[in-house]
Amino acid sequence: MSKECLHLAHVANVIPGTRGCEECLKTGSTWLHLRLCRSCGHVGCCDQSPGRHATAHFHATQHPIIEGYDPPEGWGWCYVDEIFFELPNQTPQKGPIPRFY
Ligand SMILES: [Zn+2]
Ligand SMILES: [Zn+2]
Ligand SMILES: [Zn+2]
Repeated sequence: MSKECLHLAHVANVIPGTRGCEECLKTGSTWLHLRLCRSCGHVGCCDQSPGRHATAHFHATQHPIIEGYDPPEGWGWCYVDEIFFELPNQTPQKGPIPRFY
């Protein structure tokens, strides 16, 4: 039943690169929720957002682990294993984060 994620060992302490979705901020687009890449600190938007930039970032970079970046989340998701888990630590936000909902 419970799959194991072998990428957890590679979860890094990252500094968020931007206050919101990097791509959406460039294009003036909006997002619903944010996802933080725990490999490099890229901030992207979730799959319910028009841009789906967090998933696009995974496809572009193969960085497997994201963190839910809307407070007070702190869960992790592995794109490769497709499982949720509790992250051992949460990344402090670089606020204030723009919101559109
Ligand atoms: Zn994994
Ligand atoms: Zn986006
Ligand atoms: Zn990344």
